[in-house]
Amino acid sequence: MAEEEGEEYLFKIVVIGDSAVGKSNLLSRFARDEFDHNSKATIGVEFQTQVVEVDGKEIKAQVWDTAGQERFRAVTSAYYRGAVGALIVYDISRKTTFESTKRWLDELNTHCDTTVARMLVGNKCDLEDIRDVSVEEGKSLAEEEGLFFIETSALNSTNVNAAFEIVIREIYNNVSRKTL
Ligand code: GDP
Ligand code: MG
Repeated sequence: MAEEEGEEYLFKIVVIGDSAVGKSNLLSRFARDEFDHNSKATIGVEFQTQVVEVDGKEIKAQVWDTAGQERFRAVTSAYYRGAVGALIVYDISRKTTFESTKRWLDELNTHCDTTVARMLVGNKCDLEDIRDVSVEEGKSLAEEEGLFFIETSALNSTNVNAAFEIVIREIYNNVSRKTL
């Protein structure tokens, strides 16, 4: 969903990745600057809208959260429909969540075309002591797959806005190129 009506932009961005990697907290940090210590997996699709400015243009980022569906590998095609950006999230302290990102990418690719702006996100970078995935591993996967890459901490607010803003800017650039 990349609608352009005059100066109005609405970008649908999906957040995907294994259970408990911090997807919901990345979203609540971005949209409301809040962090929730309780992991609650509410069932059902939810999204939040955050307004950001790019090149003086107001952009509504409609960010979707799997809200627990991922636990049952049951993220529906409706979730992906119309997405123009995606954050593929893993937890730097749990290698299995990093290994799963390939599966999440495959799923994204079956539902969306390659123009979707993609960011690989290594979350929980505050957990340096129990790091299980190196920065280099993240970087090289991102290079292989043609993704942006960033490490974040929803807990400390590190790079959370940057993760979303880089994706939003890329989508904006794609849209401007098309409408030129
Ligand atoms: P989701 O299942 O991917 O939506 O993950 P949640 O956002 O529910 O987070 C799962 C758990 O990880 C919760 O206990 C959070 O408090 C915790 N968590 C989320 N982000 C971070 C982070 O950046 N650092 C740390 N240390 N814990 C986090
Ligand atoms: Mg969640």
